[in-house]
Amino acid sequence: MEKVSIQEASRRLNLSQTSIREYARKGDLKASKEPGPNGRSMWMIELPEEGWEDPTKVIYMELQKSFSHWWWPTGERSGYAHYVDNVGIEETVPEFLCGLISANIWVTKELYKDEYCPECVEKVESALASDELLERFRNHRNRLGQR
Ligand SMILES: [Zn+2]
Repeated sequence: MEKVSIQEASRRLNLSQTSIREYARKGDLKASKEPGPNGRSMWMIELPEEGWEDPTKVIYMELQKSFSHWWWPTGERSGYAHYVDNVGIEETVPEFLCGLISANIWVTKELYKDEYCPECVEKVESALASDELLERFRNHRNRLGQR
C-alpha cells in the first residue's frame, strides 16, 4: 500500500484536501500518523486500490437512480408508475421492482405522490443506505403533492 501526504492524495484522487480529511476521519480512507521529514509527525493517507469510488459521488448516483427509474406500465399513464432497475435496449419485457411485468414501458414526467406504486416505493426505500437519502427521496416524491 502506498502512503502519501494529504496534498498528494488530493491530487491523485482528484478530491479537495477537505474531502480527503473528512474521508480519513470517517474511515472511508485509511490514514495514519507518520514521522515527517523535519521530525514532526504528519498525516499520511493510504491510497485506495484502483476502482475506489468517491462515497459522495456514489451516494449522489444512488439518489439520482431512485428518482429517475420510474415508468408507466401503460400508454394511458393511469394507475401507478413503477420502478425498473435496468432498461436495456435489448430488454423487451420489462420487469418492475414489485414483480409486475408489462409489455412495454412509457416514460414518466413529473409524478404526483399518489402515482408511485407503493410496493416499488417500499423496496426502493429499503435499499437506500441512509436516513438522509430516505429523507431526500421522500421529499422528492412529496414535491408535487396529491392530484
Ligand atoms: Zn410497482
